[in-house]
Amino acid sequence: SALPPPRTRIFKIIVIGDSGVGKTCLTFRFCAGRFPEKTEATIGVDFRERLVEIDGEKIKIQLWDTAGQERFRKSMVQHYYRNVHAVVFVYDVTNAASFRSLPAWIEECKQHALGTEVPRILVGNKCDLQDSVQVGTDVAQQFADAHSMPLFETSAKSPNGLRGGSYRDSDHVEAIF
Ligand code: GDP
Ligand code: MG
Repeated sequence: SALPPPRTRIFKIIVIGDSGVGKTCLTFRFCAGRFPEKTEATIGVDFRERLVEIDGEKIKIQLWDTAGQERFRKSMVQHYYRNVHAVVFVYDVTNAASFRSLPAWIEECKQHALGTEVPRILVGNKCDLQDSVQVGTDVAQQFADAHSMPLFETSAKSPNGLRGGSYRDSDHVEAIF
């Protein structure tokens, strides 16, 4: 008799960072392959999925992208941090404040038992806005090294011609594996 088909494994990845850094756009690009025409501010949790094949096995990648509203956070935060396989921290390279917020986001993760044992990556988004960069590669790389995370500078909007050479839209997530 035939074996039952293997169950698709699910990888839950949470995408964290200040409001406006591009979390929704990044997850949209990863799951839909393009920049969204129009985004509304996330209310609660945005949830997207993409099926990928890794070493011949189909894996469902679930991206959880939140908004920072206090009311949401109090009620949902426990649920959000449960059974997480990887964490993506996002800042906006044109917004120094979003970079300065990273230690607080990292600390919140730690408080929910997501320390260095969970793969974590750092993503600097909006590199297409080269004239407005406030967070340079050097300082970001130092921060990433200090927290044992790989750094990816990228853009959800414009896939080509960015600092650091070629950029593929899904690198920031697929690199985790
Ligand atoms: P979120 O609050 O972190 O989910 O941020 P959104 O994904 O909603 O994006 C916030 C704003 O930044 C929107 O106006 C987006 O169009 C814009 N945005 C997001 N990613 C990029 C990017 O890579 N480049 C540029 N130029 N704008 C972006
Ligand atoms: Mg959003």
